[in-house]
Amino acid sequence: MKRDTAAVHAGREDLTTLGAHVPPLDASTTYPLASVESGGAAYDQLAGGGPPRPEDSFVYQRLWNPNVARFELALADLEGAEDAVAFATGMAAVTASLLAAVAAGTPHVVAVRPLYGGTDHLLATGLLGTRVTWATADTVATALEPDTGLVVIETPANPSLDLVDIARVAALAGDVPVLVDNTFATPVLQQPLGHGAALSLHSATKFIGGHGDLMGGVIATSRDWAERLRRVRAITGGLLSPQSALGLHRGLQTLPVRVRAQQATAGRLAEWLSDQPEVARVHYPGLAGCDPRGLVGRQMSGPGSIISFTLKGGRDAAAAVAEHCRLITHAVSLGGVDSLIQEAAALTHRPVAAAAKPDASLLRLSVGLEDPDDLIADLANALRAATALTPLYPAAAQLG
Ligand SMILES: *Cc1c(COP(=O)(O)O)cnc(C)c1O
Repeated sequence: MKRDTAAVHAGREDLTTLGAHVPPLDASTTYPLASVESGGAAYDQLAGGGPPRPEDSFVYQRLWNPNVARFELALADLEGAEDAVAFATGMAAVTASLLAAVAAGTPHVVAVRPLYGGTDHLLATGLLGTRVTWATADTVATALEPDTGLVVIETPANPSLDLVDIARVAALAGDVPVLVDNTFATPVLQQPLGHGAALSLHSATKFIGGHGDLMGGVIATSRDWAERLRRVRAITGGLLSPQSALGLHRGLQTLPVRVRAQQATAGRLAEWLSDQPEVARVHYPGLAGCDPRGLVGRQMSGPGSIISFTLKGGRDAAAAVAEHCRLITHAVSLGGVDSLIQEAAALTHRPVAAAAKPDASLLRLSVGLEDPDDLIADLANALRAATALTPLYPAAAQLG
């Protein structure tokens, strides 16, 4: 099956047999047990990270839920992975992968910045018992230690849109599994496992949900890693709710169409922003100069729909632009059907160490499904507000 077809049908193969058109919601927190013995055996099977055996009880929602399992199956299909494991949020997914590394006695992590602010913060604090070495994509091999359990990268990276060559990092990491945060690309544009990554992680809150009303996280990976992650999930409880799983599974059906439409608009906006006198620099993988390794077309099938740009007027000009957008909502998060803008250093990347923080004038724009002309008009208006703050022609301000 082609990817667009899989997006619509994956995880739904048994529905006709069930006599249902959409997946029925199973909201049960607990499940009847046929006997103490069979219940105990089912508990062992599920807590060990395995799938339920036929006729087994699911025992308890923290161990298994059919809606979550359907979403996982569908996401794994889109990522070309053996399996996937879903969590309450993207950060719960990051947490589970770090705890799995700690549990294996390999608590050292090599991480390439920039990363999402929350991931950076979690690694920098060492809260979960990990120890981090910050590396660049070129220095991954020398950063490895005997107890390195994971190499963590993000591509395109939040918020700078830097692209990292996954295959190259996987080669430098050798036997150490590479985790790629694939949130910005989505499985529509990039399948990291095909380039040598062991784990592809998403904040499903973003593109997969796509409508700003669901939180979730998911990791596509091998069967063995999935078992390890399910064991962590069963113990720590960062599970996706069945209601959210139903919504995220539905979100996958329109994901390819949304990603392509948002990407087409983003391409136009990136070009337009590049021509504006108030804008210092536009970061977008589709622009010449933003993809020196030629990864768009090779690793990623398209540049996506997140743009970031810096303002010549600095932090105050960036704040003025964010605050003067009317159609585009001034808010964190991304990947939804409506456009959002935010100042990364002040918000999503607030907890990041000063030396690794994004430029204070950097705005991150998530392009939605609105008509591009309306988005350009809104941005033009907001850029004018920034110009008023730092007039290009100071004398003109006194004329009127
Ligand atoms: C938002 C985000 C996360 C965290 O996901 P939550 O669902 O907010 O916990 C992780 N990585 C990236 C790239 C993100 O944008």
